[in-house]
Amino acid sequence: MAESDVVVVWFRQDLRLQDHKALYYALKDAEQYNRSIIAVFHIHPALNESFTVRHDYFFRTVEDVAQQAQEYNIPFHFIEGETEDAFRDLLEKVPTVKSVHFNLDEVGFGRKRDEHMNHWLETEGVQVHRYIDAHIHGAEEVEKPDGGFYSVFTPYYRKWSSLNKPAVFNVDKQKLQQYGADFSKHFEGGSEAFQNLLQKCSREWNHIGEKSAIQRLVYFLHNKVKAYEEERDFPAKRATSMISPYLKCGVLSPRTVYHQAMEVQQEYGEAKGLETFVSEIAWRDFYNMIYYVHPNCKDEEISSKYKQIDWNQDQELFEKWKNGETGFPIVDAAMKQINEIGWMHNRLRMVVASFLTKDYLMDWRKGERYFQNQLIDYNPASNIGGWQWAASTGTDAVPYFRVFNPIRQSERFDPEGEFIKSYLPALKNVPKKYIHEPSKMTEAEQEKYDCIIGKDYPEPTVDHKVMRKKAIAMFEGNEE
Ligand code: FAD
Repeated sequence: MAESDVVVVWFRQDLRLQDHKALYYALKDAEQYNRSIIAVFHIHPALNESFTVRHDYFFRTVEDVAQQAQEYNIPFHFIEGETEDAFRDLLEKVPTVKSVHFNLDEVGFGRKRDEHMNHWLETEGVQVHRYIDAHIHGAEEVEKPDGGFYSVFTPYYRKWSSLNKPAVFNVDKQKLQQYGADFSKHFEGGSEAFQNLLQKCSREWNHIGEKSAIQRLVYFLHNKVKAYEEERDFPAKRATSMISPYLKCGVLSPRTVYHQAMEVQQEYGEAKGLETFVSEIAWRDFYNMIYYVHPNCKDEEISSKYKQIDWNQDQELFEKWKNGETGFPIVDAAMKQINEIGWMHNRLRMVVASFLTKDYLMDWRKGERYFQNQLIDYNPASNIGGWQWAASTGTDAVPYFRVFNPIRQSERFDPEGEFIKSYLPALKNVPKKYIHEPSKMTEAEQEKYDCIIGKDYPEPTVDHKVMRKKAIAMFEGNEE
């Protein structure tokens, strides 16, 4: 086997064996030329510099898919070092590598790496096959009639909906078994590096991997999607799919999500909830396109007129936001959610992002980076898109004069305070009347409800009405 020609599948944020374009075509390649397939996962040295909750979740997922792959006779081969060095080492160890298949990154660091490696591998005489797999439609696929890119979601979505959708790429697992090859003995160093990463994982995750992802999707589509339109903004209802961590790691393919949703539509008929859910999947594609078109948007405002904003630098306030100590219960409960489970409900992401940028007048980049470290579903394009939307600096952003009122948001979307109480035990006895603004309680009421303001729960750190005016003035000052 060691002498036969080899096809490499380079796994990255596509940690599944089903509906996987690169794996599908690698198998075709192996069949056509009678080559063996090896699965490769690259460990970059930067991973040793920072290891956050998102890495913890991600590497547990890698472990899971590697186990599944082993069962189908394509064990993961871990390679390490700077990308080029790692692949040079691979080619030295397995000189019969003829082709490399991978699902490409269209944005950020991955885009640059992929462009570089495409060129490098070709120079080394290896065929490179790259696929758009992480999105239903890649960045360049949804064009305006004049061939340009959309900047507003609604017309983008109209066009997105009108395009034919790619089919699911079913991987024949029996054939995988036939063509899979094990070169593990050459990659002991890489395996050790992976084991070291696993040792850094300290959290317990209950629903890791492809099987759990499919179960979650099916459960959502059969039990929750009908009410999605009405209930998705209410965090206490747990009415959203919660598939974002699976999409982030590529445990679920967005094509599978789309086609499963369409099957449910055939069964149930048209349903607003289903339509809205599919449009959310399109938002994911939309932000990927925006990041592709604005490659500097992780660091720079997309809207150039707001590049000079003099953001508030108060580190103490930033710490309060991070720790959920702002004195605004909905904001604080949301920040406890992200800190505790590595995920936050969409409505709350909007509320806390608006709060940081409009009530604390703080730089959206600080929030974006904090989310980057705290979210297990961290997706640079969606996160930057969401932050620039909330900060009113993006292409399709909320206008700066429409500032979220955290108290009204709380009253509307957590009317009973159920979500708030689930994360802020200090407020557990506070009645509905005060749950959105506990500082309104009299001293006697604070005693009665076991919640002394300033001791058990903080005073509001800012006056929303005052800050709203300041935010609008700050943006107005930067209008051209
Ligand atoms: P559902 O409501 O069930 O939606 C299904 C899927 O559609 C999601 O899993 C997601 O892939 C996609 N989706 C839904 N809403 C959006 C949206 N507004 N933008 C892009 N895609 C969307 N999403 C991430 O996946 N990663 C992030 O890092 C991220 N950061 C965000 C930061 C801010 C400030 C904001 C406002 C939003 C952010 N989002 C991010 C979008 C959204 O909040 C999450 O996708 C959603 O909460 C995930 O939960 P769910 O899977 O239950 O979503």
